[in-house]
Parts: sequence; C-alpha cells; structure tokens
Amino acid sequence: MIVNPGAGEGDSVPRSNVEAGLAEPLAHEVNFPPVQNGVDYLLSVVDHLTAEEQPRPRDLKYAVLHLQGAAEVLLKARLQLEHWSLVFKDPGQATRTRFEAGDFESCTTAGAVARLKDIADVDVGDRAAKSLAILSRWRNALQHYGLRANARAVDTRAAQVLDFLIAFVHEQLLPALPDGESATVASELVRVGDNVRTIKSFIETRLKRLADELKDCKDRTLECCFCGEATLVVGDTGPLSCRFCHTTWANPNHALTDYVEAYDVNFDSNFQTCPNCTEYALLVDGARVVQAPEERRSLCFSCGSAFDDLAECIDCLNTYISITDGDLGLCGVCVQAS
Ligand SMILES: [Zn+2]
Ligand SMILES: [Zn+2]
Ligand SMILES: [Zn+2]
Repeated sequence: MIVNPGAGEGDSVPRSNVEAGLAEPLAHEVNFPPVQNGVDYLLSVVDHLTAEEQPRPRDLKYAVLHLQGAAEVLLKARLQLEHWSLVFKDPGQATRTRFEAGDFESCTTAGAVARLKDIADVDVGDRAAKSLAILSRWRNALQHYGLRANARAVDTRAAQVLDFLIAFVHEQLLPALPDGESATVASELVRVGDNVRTIKSFIETRLKRLADELKDCKDRTLECCFCGEATLVVGDTGPLSCRFCHTTWANPNHALTDYVEAYDVNFDSNFQTCPNCTEYALLVDGARVVQAPEERRSLCFSCGSAFDDLAECIDCLNTYISITDGDLGLCGVCVQAS
C-alpha cells in the first residue's frame, strides 16, 4: 500500500503515531510509519523498473515519482531524529503545534541533503547528491510537462539513488527503529537490493556491448548529464547523441550548456568559437574526458577537436591556437584587422 503516492516537495511529512504522541490507530486507519512508508515506495520503484525488460512510460513515471517520494520521506525521517524543526522549510518559524498537525511547508530534497551533511554529519556522496538533484528535476518536469528522460537514463540514476538509500536506511534509520519494525524494514530492503542488482545487470550488459565501440574515442568521450554514464561521444557526424541513453541534442551548443550546468560547478570554463570548425561549441578548460577524467580539457562539442594550447586573444578575448614563434597575443581575426 502506498500512502500519498507522488508526494510532492513541500508536502507535509508522514510521521509515526507514536512519535507524534497520538493514540494507537483504530483498525480501519492506515498506520504507516515513515521509514516503512519510504521503503514501500522503494519496493514500488524496483517493481516498476523490473516489470519488463523495456519499462513502459507509465512504469518510468511511477518509478520517478515514487523514488522521489522515498527520498523525501527517508531523508526527512533522519532529519527528525536530529530535531523535528529541521523538516520545516524555515526552522526558525517551526512550532510544535504546526508540526504535530502536519501543517507546514517542508524543506526541499536538496535542502534536506544539505542539512544532513551540515547538521547531522551524514555522508552523502557527490554521485548520489547529483542523482538526487536530477531526480527532483525529473519529478518537477513530470508534474508540469512530462518526462524528457528515457528509460536508460532513469535506470542508471535510479540505481544510484537506490544504492544510496538502501545504505542510508541501514546506517542511519534502522538503529533508531523498534526491533519489530527494524526487522520488517530490513527484510524489505533485501528485496529492494535483489531487484537493484537485476537493474544493474541490465545496465552492465548494455555497457559491455558499448565498450568495444567506445575504446578508440576516449579522448572525446564525456559523462552524459542525463544518464551519468561515460558514453557521450562528441565529434561524430549527425546530431550529438548519448550512446547509452540515446538522449539527443539537435544543436551541440545545447549539449554544451547542459554539460556545464551539470558538471562545471566552479564556473572556470567558458564557451568559445572553435578555431577548427568555427561553431560556437568549444568548451574551454572544462571537459573531463574518459581518457583523463582528472584533467580539464578544451574540447569542441561539434567537431570533437581537443586543444591543448589555447591562448586568449588580448583584443577580443576569444581563444585561438597559439603559435610558438612570433605569437602576437591576437587571434587570426584580430591579426587581420590590425
Ligand atoms: Zn546518456
Ligand atoms: Zn569544432
Ligand atoms: Zn581576437
């Protein structure tokens, strides 16, 4: 049974009756403590993602909604262990009365992650945090104009979030539950985990099929910001498309924008006109290619050219390929104009 399916960000948080100091529920009432509720959402997610080899749009929709529901409920359950006021959007405005009535605007998933890190000292890895953020965006997109992400992107992101949430419940929530509830939740988590392994084996099979065709283009292969797999090869003919999830960009410049939004949090990189193909699709000092993920390279999202030695024109500030002898500090266009 799912209580409040598709619970939105900002919805009030289901709480256990015991925690809220209420009497035991009557037989006809629904009694679904938050952790069990969250894990029930997880079971629904894996059911939808493993129902068929190729999940239908409806399965993807509920997988995304319920995974987001699970993340919210579980992250907030942990925040409540720290202090009940932390689930309020603005803890400064929190009152016990409004909390007990469930009458308040709660913090966002991103807000919950930040509070868990800062206040509860909970370790949320970068990959999981990224996937949680993407999941939130998908959930919002679903509610407003449908989902653009496809099955493979949902599979990989979901697997990452599921992995994180399973470990999170084990480490952060189970120890705080009464024995009976803890045992029930633990056995349900085993079921979730088994299904996550099935989802991952689908993913690995697909990645193995791709490995051969990707091995010779590691210097122009990037992580796809939709599925998170390192399968976005730039510089091929035709529209730029992720080989794993098949997300396609009609214009390489849009792919560049999406990439920078997802991966370049320090804003050091910039866009320039490519000295090779003249498209405005060159990412300067920001591409982390599979060949050298620790480096920040300059790579054109249109023609796939990599540039090791780019200089900035002192006049127009565009980048150009510098020459060893007699470099004037100016790009070709500005040299001709001077
Ligand atoms: Zn992809
Ligand atoms: Zn180019
Ligand atoms: Zn110039």
